[in-house]
Amino acid sequence: MKLYVIGIGPGGEEQMTLRAVRALTACDCVAGYGLYLDLIAPLIEGKERIMTGMTREVDRCTAARDRALQGQTVAVVSSGDAGVYGMAGLVFEVCEGHPEIEIEVIPGITAACSGGAVLGSPLTCDFACVSLSDLLTPWEVIEQRLRGAAQGDFAIALYNPASKKRTDHLQRACDILLETQKPETVCGLVRNIGRAGETFSLTTLGALRDTPVDMLTTVFVGNSRTKMVDGRMVTPRGYRGV
Ligand code: SAH
Repeated sequence: MKLYVIGIGPGGEEQMTLRAVRALTACDCVAGYGLYLDLIAPLIEGKERIMTGMTREVDRCTAARDRALQGQTVAVVSSGDAGVYGMAGLVFEVCEGHPEIEIEVIPGITAACSGGAVLGSPLTCDFACVSLSDLLTPWEVIEQRLRGAAQGDFAIALYNPASKKRTDHLQRACDILLETQKPETVCGLVRNIGRAGETFSLTTLGALRDTPVDMLTTVFVGNSRTKMVDGRMVTPRGYRGV
């Protein structure tokens, strides 16, 4: 009994690993959010799809587990990496007590890496990822993590910077970061990474707080040494001294 948990990377097939492609080819049935299944449609033609809406993750993983228990080879897909704000942890939890199911997690390129590559090299040194979604994490905890990352002068990749219901989270996050970081701190935004309509822009922390974003965007906040180099965002590793 085999259950793959597959990170499909940010977009289509070209940013997926060969291991992910092979696992998708091998499975009978694929579970995932509709948008992600559409992105990999050519690879899963003719396979059964288990689709539920964005907030039905537990149902989707439970359905995938039940198919695996019936003997099918099943894949649960997440965008990016399944272990970064994805389904991997939940799959282990719903399969607890079923050692007969062999779970294989296949890593994918997370938005911090794929978006970082679009911008240049913003995460060259120590960095933190913080999700601004308070659906599953209380906002106070998010604030605490933002303060910790800023105090440690980490470059930061902000996931889930906004949704239709939450429009001011990025602004609130910027105000917290501005308690310790300078308004000139170099920042970048990347939307639709690896998908049709990919765009990016560079800005400063001071201006970022008034920049509109949506859930298809990943936001990058530099550390105190991050700079713009010919229109790209670069955090120097320090090879050339200060
Ligand atoms: N597991 C995913 C993250 C899921 S959380 C990963 O590892 O990348 C969803 C958030 O990820 C989005 O709100 C956005 O901030 C970011 N994200 C995921 N895919 C993206 C893409 N193709 N373009 C831009 N941002 C993306």
